[in-house]
Amino acid sequence: MITGKNYIGSQLKAGGNITLKTFNPLLNTENPWVFTEATHEEIEEAVALASQAFDSYKRCSGIEKAAFLNTIADEILALGDLLLVQYCSESGFSKGRAEGERGRMIGQLRSFAEMLIEGSWVQATIDTAIPERQPAPKEDLRKMLVPLGPVVVFGSSNFPFAFSTAGGDTASALAAGCPVIVKSHSMHIGTGEMVASAIIKAAQKTNMPEGVFSNLAGAGRTLGASLVQHPLVKAVGFTGSISGGRALCDLAAKRPEPIPVFAEMGSVNPVVLLPEALKQNSQKWALAYAGSITLGAGQFCTNPGLLLAVKGAALNEFAEQLAKAIEKTTPSCMLHASMQADFETGIFTMASQNGVSKVAQFTGEVPPNHGRPTVLKVSGEEFLKNKVLSHEVFGPFSILVECNDEAELLQIINTLDGQLTGTIIGEENELHEHQDVIFALQNRVGRLIFNGVPTGVEVCPSMLHGGPYPASSDSRFTAVGTHAVYRWVRPLSYQNWPDDLLPAELQNENPLQIVRTTDHKLTLSKI
Ligand code: NAP
Repeated sequence: MITGKNYIGSQLKAGGNITLKTFNPLLNTENPWVFTEATHEEIEEAVALASQAFDSYKRCSGIEKAAFLNTIADEILALGDLLLVQYCSESGFSKGRAEGERGRMIGQLRSFAEMLIEGSWVQATIDTAIPERQPAPKEDLRKMLVPLGPVVVFGSSNFPFAFSTAGGDTASALAAGCPVIVKSHSMHIGTGEMVASAIIKAAQKTNMPEGVFSNLAGAGRTLGASLVQHPLVKAVGFTGSISGGRALCDLAAKRPEPIPVFAEMGSVNPVVLLPEALKQNSQKWALAYAGSITLGAGQFCTNPGLLLAVKGAALNEFAEQLAKAIEKTTPSCMLHASMQADFETGIFTMASQNGVSKVAQFTGEVPPNHGRPTVLKVSGEEFLKNKVLSHEVFGPFSILVECNDEAELLQIINTLDGQLTGTIIGEENELHEHQDVIFALQNRVGRLIFNGVPTGVEVCPSMLHGGPYPASSDSRFTAVGTHAVYRWVRPLSYQNWPDDLLPAELQNENPLQIVRTTDHKLTLSKI
């Protein structure tokens, strides 16, 4: 079923001579499939096709695009267990995780389809003319959101389904009306090719224009950079490391026509443990956090990598309970040997910093490519002196910071980089006393969590998965949930335009029956 070729629109091509292989971390061996990196000509062809496709794809109705997205979901499901087996062999994840993540990918596609059918997402805004207004007449003005153009998506390593080929970036860009070119993640090119085949089939079944989707394999620094720099590409979606995301933002900013890069990057997701909660429920929170730190081998962008609290007996009790739970947690397989090596280096770097000591580490036998759950600790004073201690260690890792007092805790929060999430663990009666801490945390994060764990990202319109830089490159947008569509659109205003030539969303009769803002009022009414 795997061809090793690139989808240039609906055509499978492999004219190049650079080959790539993926790796099975569970078996600790290379996978058998050979993939061919897309050539310069193939990149040019994919982008030219996407640009041509944009002319007709942007004119597709919401119903037509919804049919496309729903058919992609159907075609992915039709790949059955073979797709799950491919996913597991290129990620080391279990079949259960594969099924769960496939469900999330399918759910995302269908939720964008629902959004398109409902239709109000275009934010139609109409100000009708007042010809008799003095001293000058008011013109008829009508505004709605329109797609940007071809989008390049860099799939992530840690979500081969939900944040990759047909993941949230692709689904939201296609929903917006933008053709998509995926730069397949090198760790799961085969999974990417299978999902791409489903997208191509769906495009053909629903009569979408040739080039509405392409899928290319190759290195980020060469193929990926060429795509971002291509003049016909109008926006970029990325999930991964800060260095990768930043490199792409810089490339995009230096183009003669700069384009937006929506990069979701690193985060240590600080958790503030308030004293009363630690006193009353240290065991409950220690168990919850041991689970969250080690979930999915810690390979989540929302992994809680930084635990903050004021020192004392309650914190010591929490640390003891956390140590017991971490030491008992069986290590899980990481995505790749390189990921596991980076994880070991990260722990070594952290453990070598001044004042850092071990809270807990799994000490039993660890199979190849598995991540040893580890928690370290350091004083607030040392943490404030050393920026290295706030870096992300991608894997089942967290560092506990023991603050001298609340003033030091506040100082630490105020010096943190931007984060995807921030969590407060507290009893309701102590929250009012700690308002400064809560407001300080609010400045630094995209999602504020009360008495929970940051892992587990619900897909719904009110989710915000993003945050101040470097959690994401633009904190005004989310990468998860239907509002992710707003990354790929711009407002367009029509002045005094003939009614029958306006998009249906803006016509007097409101033929799509969408909610619009007409003369300052939200309404379903016609004009
Ligand atoms: P990554 O190294 O940033 O790679 C993500 C994608 O970007 C890959 O397709 C990669 O291409 C490409 N890329 C990377 N650097 C580039 C550059 N300078 N120019 C152009 N393209 C570039 O992320 P990853 O592979 O997912 O994982 C590596 C590390 O990222 C992890 O160890 C972890 O620290 C971090 N990470 C963070 C999150 C998060 O959400 N916070 C999620 C996943 C990973 P190649 O295929 O050539 O590598």
